[in-house]
Amino acid sequence: MSSSGKKFSLEFFPPRDIAAQEKLVRSAKQMQALHPDYVSVTFGAGGSTRSGTVETVRMMQNLGFDTAPHLSCIGAAKAELAELLDGYRAQGVRRIVALRGDLPSGMGGDSGEMRHARDLVAFIREHSGDHFHIEVAAYPEMHPQSLSAREDLAHFVDKVKAGADSAITQYFFNADAYFDFVDRLQAQGVDIPVIPGIMPITNNAQLARFSNMCGAEIPRWIRLRLADFGDDRASIRAFGLDVVSQLCGRLLERGAPGLHFYTLNNAEVTTALWGRVVPR
Ligand code: FAD
Repeated sequence: MSSSGKKFSLEFFPPRDIAAQEKLVRSAKQMQALHPDYVSVTFGAGGSTRSGTVETVRMMQNLGFDTAPHLSCIGAAKAELAELLDGYRAQGVRRIVALRGDLPSGMGGDSGEMRHARDLVAFIREHSGDHFHIEVAAYPEMHPQSLSAREDLAHFVDKVKAGADSAITQYFFNADAYFDFVDRLQAQGVDIPVIPGIMPITNNAQLARFSNMCGAEIPRWIRLRLADFGDDRASIRAFGLDVVSQLCGRLLERGAPGLHFYTLNNAEVTTALWGRVVPR
C-alpha cells in the first residue's frame, strides 16, 4: 500500500506464444521496481487460457508479486472451479478476481452451471470460506448487455451481498461516471472500495476496438485529437499520457481508493503513467 493508504495494482494477461512469454517476463521484471500492492492475471472464459493463467500466476509469484488470478464462471463446471480454487489456495493465493466472463464466439451456447458473477462469488464463499479476498467487476458506464443503469447497479449490489470485498472498474475516460456510480452505491449503503481500472492510450485503432466491445465511451474530443495524430505513435503516446494521468489525478484527488492499471503486458507506458500519478 502507498503512504496515502490507497491501493495500486497491475493487470497482465497470459502470453499466447514464446515471444509473448519472453516479453511478459521482461515487462514484469521491469515493473518489480514499482512495488504494486498486487498484480492480477486474466482468465479466458470457457477455460481457454486455464493453464496459461495458472502458469502466469506462478511465474508472477516467483517474481515476488502478491498475485490475484482472475476466474470466470461462464461455461465452467463447479468441479473444475473448485479444483482451481484449491490449487490457488495451496500455492498461497489470497485474492481472486471473480467474473462471469464472455464465451469466445464459436464456443456454443452452453453457459455452464453458473450464469452470473454473483453465482461465482457465492460459490467461492461456499467452497473456500473467507480465505480469498474477492474482487468483482464494476461498470461506471454500464455493462454493454444491461438494459438499464438501475438494473446494472442492482446486479452489482447482488455481487457485494454474495460476498465481494472490493471491485475494479471497466476502464473509462469520464471521471464523473465513476463518481456517480460510487455515489449511487453509497446511497444504497454499499461502501466497498471501487478501484478505477485505468487503460493507457497508445494505439488509436486498438482503443476504439476495445471500447466498442466493452462499452467504454471515448469522449468526442479525445477521439478527434487521436484522429489528428494519424500514425504518429509518439504523439499519441504523449497525448495519451497527459489525458490519462490527468484522469488519474482527478480520481485520486476526489477520493478514489487506488488505481488498477491495465498494463497490456507493456512495461513502458504503465511505468511512465505510474511515475506521474502514484504517490511515493
Ligand atoms: P456479471 O456481474 O454477471 O454481469 C454481466 C451482465 O449480467 C451485466 O449486464 C449484469 O447487469 C447482468 N446480470 C448480473 N446478474 C444478473 C441477474 N441475476 N439477472 C439478469 N442479469 C444479470 N473477462 C474474462 O473473460 N476474463 C477476465 O479475466 C476478465 N477480467 C476482467 C477484469 C475486470 C476488472 C473487468 C471490468 C472485466 C473483466 N472481464 C474479463 C470482462 C467480463 O468478463 C465481462 O465484462 C463480462 O461480460 C461480464 O462479467 P461480470 O463479471 O461483470 O458479469
